[in-house]
Amino acid sequence: MSKKYIATPSKTKEILNKYKFSFKKSLGQNFLIDVNVLENIIKSTGINKSSGAIEIGPGMGALTEQLAIHADKVVAFEIDQRLLPILRDTLGDYSNVEIIHQDILEANVNEVIQSQFERGQDIHVVANLPYYITTPILMKLVRDKLPVSSFTVMIQKEVAERMAAKPNTKSYGSLTIAVQFYTEAKIVMTVPKSVFMPQPNVDSSILQLVMREEAPVYVENEEFFFNLVQASFAQRRKTLRNNLTSYFKERYTKEKINDLLEQSNIDGTRRGESLDMKEFALIANTFYKEEH
Ligand code: SAM
Repeated sequence: MSKKYIATPSKTKEILNKYKFSFKKSLGQNFLIDVNVLENIIKSTGINKSSGAIEIGPGMGALTEQLAIHADKVVAFEIDQRLLPILRDTLGDYSNVEIIHQDILEANVNEVIQSQFERGQDIHVVANLPYYITTPILMKLVRDKLPVSSFTVMIQKEVAERMAAKPNTKSYGSLTIAVQFYTEAKIVMTVPKSVFMPQPNVDSSILQLVMREEAPVYVENEEFFFNLVQASFAQRRKTLRNNLTSYFKERYTKEKINDLLEQSNIDGTRRGESLDMKEFALIANTFYKEEH
């Protein structure tokens, strides 16, 4: 039954041959050839026939096809011009798909949402992301504060673990805080390399981010907060006090840093990885107020 789907080894090979398509490694082209994985991805989003879906990088349409079947409408951004005629062919049976030939990093997704979806429609971003730019894409979309319910993306396992990490783990760091400040993050499942053509060198996970209605902690200044978090992880084995002393060396003495940490009720001998977001916010707000 599922044989006719694009996301099968035989159909994918057939399309590759028909169009003499050669994969571009530089564009992160690893296509999905397993319908079960795609069904799991879509099930985890809660998408239904009244939902909208936004896809990044439809490739030859493997995921796009499944989204077209399960959602009301799909809008997909593809950078590789060679794939446009292929997508017209492979998705020819689906009238609810719109392909936009654009680099997602340059797209005004908010504007596209307004013009392509109904007002108030439940929209989900779903993608098998090109691994070379996973973090810039996700950070852009999350910071753009798009009116979407969730992001469900296939990405490199190690990056998914960093984005969904908890304090006191090896994966926990400034990327964790940057992502979890805006979203609630969880790993849906880990996926073997064999579901891709060609197979990537790294393992993959499906990461789900759900937009928060409001930030989980109050911060006086977001940029200052994120810079301070990054500084706290600059050298993971160093104490918080030492990392912050290096970062603020033009402005504060070690004694002053100690004093400000004490005011924040945080022990400066701790390491960055032991602090939760609330504790980082306490420190950032104390330091920010000292300067402003
Ligand atoms: N969705 C397809 C699948 O699962 O079989 C293809 C996924 S493949 C990992 C990534 C896709 O993203 C490729 O089609 C690639 O051309 C496209 N891509 C790469 N960089 C992009 C960018 N900056 N903007 C939009 N699409 C991009």
